[in-house]
Amino acid sequence: MSDDKVTHPDHGSAADGPMDSVDEHLARVLESIGVLAPISRPLLEAQGLLLAENVFAEVNLPGFDNSAMDGYAVRAVDVRAATADDPVELSVVGDIAAGARSISGMGPHLAMRIMTGAPMPSGADAVVPIESTDGGMAKVQIRASAQSGQYVRRAGEDLQAGALALAVGAPLGPQQIALLAAVGKRDVHVLPRPRVGIISTGNELVEVGQTPGFGQVTDVNSFLLAAAASDAGAEVYRVGIVPDDHDRLIDTLEGLVRRVDIIITTGGVSMGAYDVVKEALGGIGSVRFTRVAMQPGMPQGYGHLGEGEHETPIFCLPGNPVSSIVSFEAFVRPAIRKLLGKRNLHRASVQAIALERMDSPAGKRQYRRGLLHREADGSLSVEPIGGAGSHLIAALAASNCLIVIDEAVTEVVPGSRLTVIPQLLAQR
Ligand code: AMP
Ligand code: MG
Repeated sequence: MSDDKVTHPDHGSAADGPMDSVDEHLARVLESIGVLAPISRPLLEAQGLLLAENVFAEVNLPGFDNSAMDGYAVRAVDVRAATADDPVELSVVGDIAAGARSISGMGPHLAMRIMTGAPMPSGADAVVPIESTDGGMAKVQIRASAQSGQYVRRAGEDLQAGALALAVGAPLGPQQIALLAAVGKRDVHVLPRPRVGIISTGNELVEVGQTPGFGQVTDVNSFLLAAAASDAGAEVYRVGIVPDDHDRLIDTLEGLVRRVDIIITTGGVSMGAYDVVKEALGGIGSVRFTRVAMQPGMPQGYGHLGEGEHETPIFCLPGNPVSSIVSFEAFVRPAIRKLLGKRNLHRASVQAIALERMDSPAGKRQYRRGLLHREADGSLSVEPIGGAGSHLIAALAASNCLIVIDEAVTEVVPGSRLTVIPQLLAQR
């Protein structure tokens, strides 16, 4: 630890100075984040985003009266007396398929063969399904009576032309995309995916696929955080590795700041001699380096780089992979969701019974990797996996949740209740 890094002009940087709570740090992050300006996107690229315009139907849904069944278009009055034992016979005067463009009208005591989705002929007001007939081609025996309107899908019964189809703020899932397609929207205004640029700092880092030499470490964080950011709804630029070099870091950041909506760096924020992120950014922009009362993830940097419309939030996360993902979950994911316009910024947590004893540092919120189980009676239980070490990547990969141990708790005994955040997992 070099002397000049022991203290920092801002509070909380000294090794034993005051710490911000997780909630305070998160509040500071979120209050500085707005939503992005809406953009137009092709329909399929809008999936998962929030609608930024009111969309009105320009057409009726359905667009015309049509048949809900394969059968015969009839006048209900003509078949009022029809039964299986005493059918009514009608002359079949036409055949209407789905997609038929012009059809003639239909007079009394006549029928037309009609397919599902085909337009109703004028004069007919009901459809008798083929199962209730003899299926005749020239003449048809109708074996059941019909109510007026039976098996007819009315024009506009789903949505009237001019009506609001979807309102500003609607989340666009497959169902809403279906409706937008139905009303003819090829492009929609949405709140865009935030573009997130991710930089791993460290002289020891080598690109994945290269064999690390002695003392070298494969860059894990840019992959971990790229996957996590994309999972959170961001568009990701994995910048990759930048060495612990002041000028290289500043150059990289300057190139990035206009192109993304959030910058994430990892490494170089603690008390070491080569903690270049802290050294390089401590003096510029509004980036502040603090200690947050959490484990892992205590050293955190947050602020903005650039100016005006290019002012970009930057998160400087600690370098250990587990620290970086815990920090991401605690601070960056909610920020990405806020930029997306989402109302729910946080993952839903559940309560589970601790299966093992755990220690936790006093005054810090501890995040442990865990395995969440559902017991035969439906209750949830959780066991820690891999210890508290923030370098344990295999244990991270084997976990399916984060266990959250409150600041005030120093010991968790088996059988006690814990807050657990299930992580999004790829499905088997
Ligand atoms: P630092 O915060 O830079 O002091 O890094 C803390 C620890 O995390 C060191 O053991 C680093 O080698 C490791 N580390 C930093 N960045 C990465 C990364 N991108 N991938 C994997 N390990 C890393
Ligand atoms: Mg480092």
